[in-house]
Amino acid sequence: MSTPGIEVQQSASSARRRVVIVGGVAGGASCAARLRRLDEAVEIVVFDRGPYASFANCGLPYYVGDVIADERALLMASPQMFRTRFDVQIRTETEVTAIDRAARMLTVRDVPTGEVRRERYDVLVLSPGAAPIRPPLPGIDLPGIFAVRSIPDSRRIRDWITARGAKSAVVVGGGFIGLEMVENLVRRDLGVTVLEKLPHVMPPLDPEMAAPVMEHLAQSGVQLHMGDGLARIEQTPDDSLVVVAESGARLPADLVILAIGVRPETDLARAAGLTIGPRGGIVTDAQMRTSDPAIWAVGDAAEVHDVLTGQETVLPLAGPANREGRVAAESIAGRTARFRGVQATSVVGVLGMTVASTGASEKGLVRAGIEGFAKVYLHPGHHASYYPGARPIHLKLLFSVPDGRIVGAQAVGAEGVEKRIDIIAMAIQLGGTVHDLAAAELCYAPQYGAAKDPVNLAGMIAQNVLAGDMPLADWTALDRTDALVVDVREPDEFAKGRLPGAINVPLSRLRERWTELPSDREIWLTCAVGQRAYYATRFLAQHGFRVRNLSGGFGTYRAMRAAGLVS
Ligand code: FAD
Repeated sequence: MSTPGIEVQQSASSARRRVVIVGGVAGGASCAARLRRLDEAVEIVVFDRGPYASFANCGLPYYVGDVIADERALLMASPQMFRTRFDVQIRTETEVTAIDRAARMLTVRDVPTGEVRRERYDVLVLSPGAAPIRPPLPGIDLPGIFAVRSIPDSRRIRDWITARGAKSAVVVGGGFIGLEMVENLVRRDLGVTVLEKLPHVMPPLDPEMAAPVMEHLAQSGVQLHMGDGLARIEQTPDDSLVVVAESGARLPADLVILAIGVRPETDLARAAGLTIGPRGGIVTDAQMRTSDPAIWAVGDAAEVHDVLTGQETVLPLAGPANREGRVAAESIAGRTARFRGVQATSVVGVLGMTVASTGASEKGLVRAGIEGFAKVYLHPGHHASYYPGARPIHLKLLFSVPDGRIVGAQAVGAEGVEKRIDIIAMAIQLGGTVHDLAAAELCYAPQYGAAKDPVNLAGMIAQNVLAGDMPLADWTALDRTDALVVDVREPDEFAKGRLPGAINVPLSRLRERWTELPSDREIWLTCAVGQRAYYATRFLAQHGFRVRNLSGGFGTYRAMRAAGLVS
């Protein structure tokens, strides 16, 4: 079948089963390479409309920041390497514009010439990724406004900074890509303002866990303009820009980065009649097959199963895209691999701070209507406190009650953060409980960890909660509780900052002063990080007091207050 005026391109050997992949980066390239390792007989063709395939999108912000100085370092594998090593044909600057499912034909456009032709497929894999959201607001297309998706995008930002001698930038959006761009623009000595519609940066985190990140950004000289949306962008007579927020605030800038999220690229799939899910991604099964048995979809454009909330989701991360590509290849080759779904394990570096999370957040659980979970906070050092240089890790662990199954964790700190989250991620993947974390045998030497690693501690604290040894107080009820708040830190610590209404009975004197405490009133105990309050909880509970622990102590209070959850 052919369309008048459009040449039909046949493969060299039309007898070969022809697998065509749309998008040759994370999902598409891994699918191609894996498929070849499984099946020497198929013909594999990859179309990408961009000038490069198999490039490191995750490295793009660091190319802007000059950490990666040579653009060629971003190219993971060349078309020639794909051809010689894997017999995979990579056709860049070739856009797929339509899918004729009945005829198993694609319409493709040669980007430089505009020429259109038809290409057949036996199997089609869609890995077109997700496009940066560009809201149709006044001034959005002015020169100096950039999104970051491709190598040319990063090159244009670098060139703009150099050519204009740019001194200031507004980053719209405080998520992963936004914050990576903040870090790299700061590296280039620009003054940076973040405009974010939510009250906090890093939307996957709960607000109190994002608070230390915001404090760190502010201390690093980044201006934070939170809880305000983008209204329009104006150009000044001297060709610089002013970002105007919904509140009317005016934020001047020499360049603007749009990082307000991404949208799955589903136009092709939608036009071809493939089923699109409620989250706007292409619906796939566990083999990454779409509603058409001859078409698979992987990566940012595919909708996948969230193993924790049980809901469908789209998750624009490179790890899942690679694994989905691999599963699709296995399935195309006739094997039975299954994609297990996602739990959103992620990490980002922000000006020397590491922010990582896995599984569900508290707000995600609430949004999904999931109840019956508890949370603990802790702030251990990243390694043994006696060894010089220990830095705190702020860790929040969410688990279900009463079975202790781990449902999520978030951590923020300078060092050792991603190691702890990766361990917890693996525990979640294996269906683990807080008891598994408490019992985990992890490597230890003083410069790396502690004999009781933060992961062990998180599990042990959660075990104490489940066993009823440490009933928890609700931080957000602090402003309205009738309980007596007792701070068991030493007086000099108490003098430096205290919870509203708290009295001070140091743990070091509790055994002589406990009779001063009221036995007819609930007591909420707090300290610096929760450990001394736990000892006090155990002591007072065994003396007949009704006690609860404010998990994470003053460290958590500061974050709660910064997030506006307590006064
Ligand atoms: P992509 O890798 O985006 O590839 C899609 C390709 O398809 C593109 O090259 C596009 O040109 C092409 N295409 C689209 N439509 C067509 C068409 N019709 N015809 C032909 N070609 C087409 N993830 C992490 O896990 N960690 C990180 O640190 C991280 N950092 C990131 C930093 C940046 C700046 C960006 C942009 C992303 C980052 N990501 C990160 C996300 C990660 O890169 C993506 O999740 C991953 O690349 C998705 O893979 P994909 O194959 O679905 O799509």
